[in-house]
Amino acid sequence: MSVPQQKTVVVGAGPVGSLAALYAAQRGHDVEVYELRPDLRNPGTTPLNFTKSINLAVSERGINAMRHAGHSSLVAKIMAGTIPMRGRMIHGESQGGELYEHAQDYDAKGRAIYAIDRSGINRRLLEILDSMPNVKLFFNHKLTGADFQFRRAWFEARDTITTPNSRPTEIEVTFDLMIGADGAHSAVRYHLMKFTRMDYQQEYIDTLWCEFRIDPREMGSGDGLQSKFRISPNHLHIWPGKDFMFIAIPSEDGSFTCTLFLPSKEFAELESNPAKVPSFFKENFPGVTDLISEDNLIASFKQNPHLPLISLKCRPYHYGSSGVIIGDAAHAMVPFYGQGMNAGMEDVRILFSILDKNAEAQEDNSPAADDYNKIASSAPDRAQALAEYSAVRAPDAYAINELAVQNYVEMRSSVLSKRYRIRKFLEEFMSVNFPNFGWHTKYSRVSFSNEGYSNIVKNSEHQGTMLLRVFLAFVTSPFAAAILFYGYRHHRSVLMTASRLFGLR
Ligand code: FAD
Repeated sequence: MSVPQQKTVVVGAGPVGSLAALYAAQRGHDVEVYELRPDLRNPGTTPLNFTKSINLAVSERGINAMRHAGHSSLVAKIMAGTIPMRGRMIHGESQGGELYEHAQDYDAKGRAIYAIDRSGINRRLLEILDSMPNVKLFFNHKLTGADFQFRRAWFEARDTITTPNSRPTEIEVTFDLMIGADGAHSAVRYHLMKFTRMDYQQEYIDTLWCEFRIDPREMGSGDGLQSKFRISPNHLHIWPGKDFMFIAIPSEDGSFTCTLFLPSKEFAELESNPAKVPSFFKENFPGVTDLISEDNLIASFKQNPHLPLISLKCRPYHYGSSGVIIGDAAHAMVPFYGQGMNAGMEDVRILFSILDKNAEAQEDNSPAADDYNKIASSAPDRAQALAEYSAVRAPDAYAINELAVQNYVEMRSSVLSKRYRIRKFLEEFMSVNFPNFGWHTKYSRVSFSNEGYSNIVKNSEHQGTMLLRVFLAFVTSPFAAAILFYGYRHHRSVLMTASRLFGLR
């Protein structure tokens, strides 16, 4: 008797949904992907997520999730189009009116995050999916309803190519498992809520964002590759303000995608008189008007949308064995840790590792062939796996949501404070000189490891308390200072003992 393949329907072909479809396809599922928008690979198509930043930062969690996708050239293909950013470049003006740049590496060990064109990731994933015999892609399909008990969903389908103004037709689709990766305003989540007792919380922070662009430098024939960039391509540039900031991320063509983050009140003031935009920049973001002309600043401010930032938390993420939400659909966050997409891709890796583990456990108790149909419909292993996924993932998703909000304060003002710089210095000093202690900055744990976000919060709080204790002992006790100094110069073991005394281990 042949066992029917599991039918997995993925809603949303953003970076997270596309990766989830690849994971499912690699496991032999019959995969159908339904995407609201047209295929972004067609020339002239409105880019997927046209309302969102064009380039973003991918780091270890996103890369690791792609590494585990079971496709040999995926990571190499995607990373080929990235630019390493090894730190922040803080821009400012001295009291004497001189412009300065101050580089802050992200990691004492030189690790970098990578600037990537968002639609580039999507395009490559869709190309791979398109070449797989067990994957079907449906663009211009909008989920309008889902019944997770009877495993049916409804989509509005539009044929925008041959009949652009046609009325949509409704189609009905069946599934064993629906994966909702349809973004912050998820329709899957909306329908899932009718079946499961989902706690849900959302907040708009009082900051809007708008995109600008620094054009590439005009190249002469003898110019090297680097000179197409007008500022360092290997940094994420920040012009901090107290309550706002301007950032720039490099693109392969030598341009920078820039984002202004500003409270709504200030946005409204500039909206009422956009001619004031250049003077606002001159006053608050020194040097930017040398990189973007005044006309371009005004034009971008007028033409590009002024968009809100949403932060949402919910739990559980699943219903029975038939539905689960991932990515922004489950935990859209403010973008200040550069983790939204990374966390969404990590969802995929964790979800499938739990599904695999439970499926293997089920196989060990292999049923008789006649029982297969019963199992396909009730899928106790999958139900158990989805419940485990919700339980494991929610604390981490909540933690990164909060870290992302906190990092806004760090980016726009703490980066300038002495206290922040001392802590960063001490943590990096410990991390490089005493790797056995396992000390790392919070940033490097989030961006360069796969440690659970909630664990990072715990460890980092503990580390901060210990650091303060040692620091106070260090500055108040000449004896302790002498021990630490002598220990570092001559006997690391002495220092280890001293550190134990301060409760470091
Ligand atoms: P989306 O990218 O939102 O994709 C959802 C897809 O579902 C879309 O294609 C949509 O068309 C489709 N869809 C929606 N509704 C339906 C429906 N009813 N039926 C069918 N399809 C539907 N993250 C990072 O990791 N690093 C960064 O540096 C970073 N920078 C950012 C900067 C800004 C300004 C912003 C706003 C976000 C940033 N992010 C960053 C976050 C990142 O963009 C998101 O976390 C990521 O795009 C989420 O991917 P997703 O696939 O879950 O959702």
